[in-house]
Amino acid sequence: MDWRIYLSKWVKVEQQVLDSDQWVPIEFEGWVAQVIARDSTVELVLHDNSSWLVEGADVRGSRVLKVVDGAGPWITHPDRWLRTEDGWERVPVEAKATGCHCERCSLVDGSFVNDPARVGSCDIVFVGEAPGYDEVRASKYFVGKAGRLIRAVLQQIGLTEYRYVFNNACLCFDGNTPDEDAIKACRDRLHQEIERCNPKLVVALGAVSLKALTDLAGISDYQGLLMPWKGTKLLACYHPAAVLRRPDLFYAFTDALYKARLYLEGDTSIDVQPEDLEVVVVSDDGMLQSAMGDLQKASKLYVDIETSGYDPFRDRLLCVALSWQDSSTKRASRKSYVFSWDFIKARLSVFSKLLQEVPSAYWNAMFDAQFLRQNGLRPCSVEDVMLKQYTLDENPLEQSLKGCARRYCNAPDWEAPLAAYLPSKSTSFEVVPIDVLSRYNGYDAAYTGVLDDLLSSRMDENNWKVYRTILVPALQMFLDTCEVGLRVDLARLETVRAELQAKLQELQDGLRTIFKEQISEQVVRAMEQSADEVVEQWERVLSTADRFNPSSVRDARALIMSLGLKTNGSTSRASLEDYRNITGVDLLLKYRETRKLLSTYIEGLVDDLRGDVIHPNIRLNGTVTGRLSCANPNLFGIPDEKGGIKKLYLPRWPGWGIGVADGAQMEIRVLGALSNDRRMIEDFQKGVDFHGAARHRLYGRGYSKKNYTHQEVLDAKTAVFGPIYGRGPESLAQQFFHSELLKLRTEGKPIKYTTWEELPEWERRSRILQAQDHIDRLWEPYPTALAWLKANVAKAQESGELCSYYGRYRRWGLVTEAVLEDIKTKGRNFPVQSAASDTNLLIMLGSYHTYKHDIYFPIFPVHDSVVFMYKLGCEQELIPSLKRYFETTAQELLNTDMKFEYEFTIGPSWGDQSSFELKEV
Ligand code: URA
Repeated sequence: MDWRIYLSKWVKVEQQVLDSDQWVPIEFEGWVAQVIARDSTVELVLHDNSSWLVEGADVRGSRVLKVVDGAGPWITHPDRWLRTEDGWERVPVEAKATGCHCERCSLVDGSFVNDPARVGSCDIVFVGEAPGYDEVRASKYFVGKAGRLIRAVLQQIGLTEYRYVFNNACLCFDGNTPDEDAIKACRDRLHQEIERCNPKLVVALGAVSLKALTDLAGISDYQGLLMPWKGTKLLACYHPAAVLRRPDLFYAFTDALYKARLYLEGDTSIDVQPEDLEVVVVSDDGMLQSAMGDLQKASKLYVDIETSGYDPFRDRLLCVALSWQDSSTKRASRKSYVFSWDFIKARLSVFSKLLQEVPSAYWNAMFDAQFLRQNGLRPCSVEDVMLKQYTLDENPLEQSLKGCARRYCNAPDWEAPLAAYLPSKSTSFEVVPIDVLSRYNGYDAAYTGVLDDLLSSRMDENNWKVYRTILVPALQMFLDTCEVGLRVDLARLETVRAELQAKLQELQDGLRTIFKEQISEQVVRAMEQSADEVVEQWERVLSTADRFNPSSVRDARALIMSLGLKTNGSTSRASLEDYRNITGVDLLLKYRETRKLLSTYIEGLVDDLRGDVIHPNIRLNGTVTGRLSCANPNLFGIPDEKGGIKKLYLPRWPGWGIGVADGAQMEIRVLGALSNDRRMIEDFQKGVDFHGAARHRLYGRGYSKKNYTHQEVLDAKTAVFGPIYGRGPESLAQQFFHSELLKLRTEGKPIKYTTWEELPEWERRSRILQAQDHIDRLWEPYPTALAWLKANVAKAQESGELCSYYGRYRRWGLVTEAVLEDIKTKGRNFPVQSAASDTNLLIMLGSYHTYKHDIYFPIFPVHDSVVFMYKLGCEQELIPSLKRYFETTAQELLNTDMKFEYEFTIGPSWGDQSSFELKEV
């Protein structure tokens, strides 16, 4: 008989096929066991000679084993089954612990872990999900990996100074997450046991625990929230096992536990309640007068707006809340005054004066301030509390006002009352009754203030440096530059749209023809081989060939198959790129590129047009590295194509042109400057062409680009940048391999291996060594720079974070196996990339304040370049001065003698640029 054994997931062996009476040694989490297949049973013999039988006959302990063919269901607890004449029968279940309803529990056959330490008088009860394998073996909760993590964090945070116990939502383990039945069956027991502990605080670790304790579903919405619970308090927190899987949750996890400590210490700042905040809806001039009396006293106003939609240039303002804190009273109270927009509009000058005189702070100032500006209010000085949060945690996990308010100051969900009026996410706030909306608006503004205090108290010197010297000044600048925006050539837009549509049609026709030819060929070939079924299949495809749609993955796959390409069914760009020499593939890739241009850069742009102007939305907190991001439209992602998307963008004002200042080899220079690699600095001072030198070192045909193929130029560039981008020799070797493939295909030469994986092991190794050799040769003259890169990686691995030259942190959270690879790459890349983009941004900022706006107006930076407008006729004087300014400012900022070079181009549109030439007078 053929037996197939599945051992459940906490046993290492996955599957074994046994012959009858065969002994197979298996590893059973470190215990050597043997499986014997007998006629109707399978026996598992452990080294200590306890023997377990499948079918429940003689199973010692309660470990779970599943036998698929033959002997029956799961191996179960020996006490659960009785042999009767008719086979096996379940024994009536008794409660394993007081309060348990094991007869209703889906985990009834799991291992019961009875840790007596779970009950006892204490300050905190931590409630987990259920014991795991390690807990089963140790008969103690939280002793495995997750347990070690939380115990270490408790120690760090100082919570071990309090009396605490660990309990679990369920007490049995069968290898699965407890389901609803199991949670319910164990709930009374859990609640009774907690009551006996009489704790000051209960911490729910993970969703199962939170469900068992409160019936709330999910954990992320409640993470960090401290709530009243049965006469005591309950804190919701991620489960440590979730943090091990997703180390970026580490900070949220430790923040929540830190909050537990503050709570036990009696710190009230973490428990701000809406009752502490007063919201006053101002509806007449008498009230306005008294509100103004307060607001004018404020050193900073916290402002929030509610609107009918998200577009400052199209949607309407509904109400505005201005919040302030009266610190003259003993218990500093926060008060929000809320005004309907109609009320403000009728008294615009009063509010305009107020916002001109008193600095204001927002949560996501770009949004609010743009709306206010469009409606005639121009706040004088604008701050953004969300950006403070960003300096403290660059991970995009939690940057919402509500999330942060919950996480840091335990705010309840003040948005909840709105839900009744908003059936979907896209429903406009216009439908919310104004009194409900005003209250919500008032809390938004007040919590912005609460968070401002709280976050400011947590910011260190570096956080402040980034906030004050980069983020706030950049915010003020982008408010101006995005308001101006760029004009779009609408006539050209239509032409480009029509051209792209025509091109798309042409490509589609071409692909259809090729497809038909290929399929017909396949039919003939199959006929020749008399493979009737195959003939039928291909004929079926042929009958639909007129409807061939290159956008459909199914059709693309059929095309790839008919071309006989080995891509394992994949139609992704990466797997097709190697076959670009084949017309069908080339057309397919061109079709996709064209379609993307059309949908993203033409149709997408149409949505963002306000008249013939776009106001891009530059985000200062859109990336973890500090690089900026851009939306509506995304101007940073436009491919450098000849199709002319960039030509659509014109200067906003007539009589102006567009210029681009491009930092040449910016990141390499920044690396040289930061590491102070003297040889590199000297090479740049001598004007060594870094990429030319790299090409020459690799291929030995001189510096000039002309002597090399496009691919060679790219490959040499990759080898130079590889170490900075954390690309190791393997990834480089793969790129070289793909370049070779393409070359062979283009030259029509035979190809032995079509994928990297197909290469024999020795050849892969030798190629990797060769790539390493390339990198070594290119970087040999610059050991200081290399050592600096390596040191950063080591620092990041050790501490889980890095700090950039300008004070930006890149935090990985917990350093686990899972993040080590990422640290290796980003640990090299972050300090260089971040410093380079900040240098470029600061140069733009400086130039914005240094040059008069009637001749020069920067619009936005794109990576290492700055796009600006200049007054036509001024370029001969302006550009040389700008060039000097850009290059010397880079040196000053980085405090280096590294030579920086900005190349300036100018032209009538962003896409129509030529090098700036200085005219002899
Ligand atoms: N995970 C839990 O949820 N509980 C334990 O006891 C151990 C790990």
